[in-house]
Amino acid sequence: MRPLGIYVHIPFCVKKCNYCDFSSHAPRDPGEIERYFAGLAVPGDSEGTPEEEKHFVDTVFFGGGTPSFVEPQYIAGVLEKIRAAYPVTDDAEITIECNPESLTEEKLEAYRGMGVNRVSIGVQSLDDTVLRRMGRAHDAEKARAAVRLAVSAGFNTSCDLIFGAPEQSFESFSTGLDELLGMGIKHISFYSLQIEEGTPFYIDYRFGSLALPSWEENRRMYHYAVDAVKAAGFRHYEVSNAAVPGFECRHNLKYWTMQEYLGIGKAAHSFMGGRRFAGGQPDPDGSTDVNELKTDFIFTELRLTDGFDKNAYFSRFGSSFDKDFGGAAKSLAEGGFLALRGESVAFTPKGLDNTNKVMEKLINALED
Ligand code: SF4
Repeated sequence: MRPLGIYVHIPFCVKKCNYCDFSSHAPRDPGEIERYFAGLAVPGDSEGTPEEEKHFVDTVFFGGGTPSFVEPQYIAGVLEKIRAAYPVTDDAEITIECNPESLTEEKLEAYRGMGVNRVSIGVQSLDDTVLRRMGRAHDAEKARAAVRLAVSAGFNTSCDLIFGAPEQSFESFSTGLDELLGMGIKHISFYSLQIEEGTPFYIDYRFGSLALPSWEENRRMYHYAVDAVKAAGFRHYEVSNAAVPGFECRHNLKYWTMQEYLGIGKAAHSFMGGRRFAGGQPDPDGSTDVNELKTDFIFTELRLTDGFDKNAYFSRFGSSFDKDFGGAAKSLAEGGFLALRGESVAFTPKGLDNTNKVMEKLINALED
């Protein structure tokens, strides 16, 4: 049997944040949440699947939107469907994304009862000015209270932080990060704010009314985060993620190492049997372009700070990394962006500051 991660997309939020282009919205009518969950199906392995190709589930991730916004009974219902479709291991990592305004002691109690063991809290900032500007539905005090609740209830707790946000100073970011690292959390994600088309921030940006920190300031925040998490005993294991050793997110590692996962719900994507697909089961006649998969491999595996092994690339694709990317990789190494040591390929610190540039160069090499 083969391990499988399941991602469940819950597209509801109390309100829309100013920077968000995820598939999420406030419920349009009182029955919408009920209907959404009633319509969620968990497709199991198909009838004729040989025993050795059947799956067991070892990670589940409820993401959004804001999964903590809906009543826990809906989460329990999905877990029941998952358990009916697949065996779930006793030590499965079951994560739920929560936002501070909707996380309560009662909900945590209910999550624990249904087997959820990991909570990922969208803190984003501990500065009320920054939170207000981002249009978050909570203030800093509410965020602190949510983190305290989850940690004291014994959950493996992760927090998300944003840097490079409008009106955010270096001190605002660094003091918030330091405070969170001292709160007993096991994992932290720190993302640079992206300005996405169609968002209120995009409009402000186009009109020149978004007071963003400079690129140098943005990098200063990132470098501070990398140093601060290490000083706190965390392992910086992915471009934007760090964990107390042993608490790396097993579900997200499946994305970053191209392991199989099934996405359930609106806007969820799957990768099974070497194919990417959206919703339901893969089309048996459909195929995924091999260059697309090679690009995905480079894109995801390079995000891990340990990088990847060229042999892993060869065993997945039957062609050598040097043949596909050798020239571009060599010139990126000469430019100080990539570290090539024996069979291993990884970003250097300079590469980590220029991930888009490096990826673009590698992808162009594949297309040439
Ligand atoms: S809470 Fe998250 S998903 Fe919802 S609108 Fe804000 S950023 Fe988007």
